[in-house]
Amino acid sequence: MADKTIIIGGGIIGLSLGWQLVRRGADVEILERSKAGKSSSWAAAGMLAPQAEMGFEDIELFYLCRKSLEMYPRFLEELYNDSCIKAEYDKCGAIMPAFDRDDSERIRRLFDFREKIGLPVQWLTGSEAREIEPYLSPKCTFAVWMPEDGQIDNRKLLETLRTAFINAGGKLYEDHLVERINIKNGKAIGVHIHGIDIEADKIIVCAGSWSKMIEGIPEEAQPPVRPVKGQAISLIMDDTCKVTHAVRAPDAYLVPKKDGRLIVGASVEEMGFDEKPTAGEIFRILERAWEAVPSIYDLKIQSIDVGLRPGSRDHEPIIGDSDIEGLYFATGHYRNGILLTPVTAYELAEWIISGNKSETLARFNISRFHKETVS
Ligand SMILES: Cc1cc2nc3c(=O)[nH]c(=O)nc-3n(C[C@H](O)[C@H](O)[C@H](O)COP(=O)(O)OP(=O)(O)OC[C@H]3O[C@@H](n4cnc5c(N)ncnc54)[C@H](O)[C@@H]3O)c2cc1C
Repeated sequence: MADKTIIIGGGIIGLSLGWQLVRRGADVEILERSKAGKSSSWAAAGMLAPQAEMGFEDIELFYLCRKSLEMYPRFLEELYNDSCIKAEYDKCGAIMPAFDRDDSERIRRLFDFREKIGLPVQWLTGSEAREIEPYLSPKCTFAVWMPEDGQIDNRKLLETLRTAFINAGGKLYEDHLVERINIKNGKAIGVHIHGIDIEADKIIVCAGSWSKMIEGIPEEAQPPVRPVKGQAISLIMDDTCKVTHAVRAPDAYLVPKKDGRLIVGASVEEMGFDEKPTAGEIFRILERAWEAVPSIYDLKIQSIDVGLRPGSRDHEPIIGDSDIEGLYFATGHYRNGILLTPVTAYELAEWIISGNKSETLARFNISRFHKETVS
């Protein structure tokens, strides 16, 4: 009988990894405490934007993000084959506008850095920027254009992943809260759920912001993940405002979707597990977005969505095996979980099935936190 694998958490990471494992012949059950794909992965804006996201310090993470972006076309093709649902990847490009001298200096530094490491970026004047995105404010003085960044409808993607996983033979159990991981003699042997123990040969924690909350893992082996609250607003575009590119304004972004939504986001808040939208943050995000694209003013609001990004201590993902035999992690994807989905699913599934550690994921192992010393 094939080894049984249990995945804890049916967000984008759990679903995609489960699907890739099943495709490779594994017997996989996903246990989801609520409804699959309705947590952080649902609230996300769906930007596939390694360039726009990159700071100066996180170059290795950038390369992982870029690799993942390159994997997207193959990932979507396989998904279509297994689900018969098309989730399209929109290569819309991203524009980073500046509105005053401070902004210009800031984006100039970001531009110089990207150019130095050979990325395809372009420096634009305000009018050149408005030729690309006519809805940008006339106050835009300069902008950086990143033609390779794109986006995807993450909600559609979740639907395709769920269908593909089930079609390929995976079992998805919703409303199944995993209370504990059972560990015996340094080996993960199963999970405890609804008062019963379920045996498994391999257990993968894909529980997003809740990854540290599952009992059973010794404290020193727990993934250092916390929730980072993000609020975003879905507006409905009409003839007065039809944005066609992702706009990365200072302190707000706007991401147009093919179905007519314009996602405006997002706050970054340390509020624990609080998932309530707040007037102050929504006001602030809309104001900053309106400064960049004034014509959003009259658009109707479809919804306000709140998600908890799983943020690790160093804000990089935690992917790979652990000191406990049979226990793996795929969590801590923070602001880039949608973007990092293909690389996480392909590399970790291959590693688990073949037993050969992934070189690509080596740096992102949980063991990096065990080496930390407090000075
Ligand atoms: C406002 C916002 C905008 C974002 N925009 C982007 C973006 O543009 N691009 C991008 O790449 N990323 C973006 N992100 C980040 C992205 O959403 C996350 O990195 C990604 O969704 C994490 O996926 P996940 O599967 O790990 O977590 P989740 O989607 O949170 O899924 C975890 C699942 O585990 C389940 N679970 C937890 N505990 C248990 C348990 N004990 N038993 C069973 N099930 C359990 C939960 O119910 C949940 O369904 C954004 C996030 C937010 C909040």
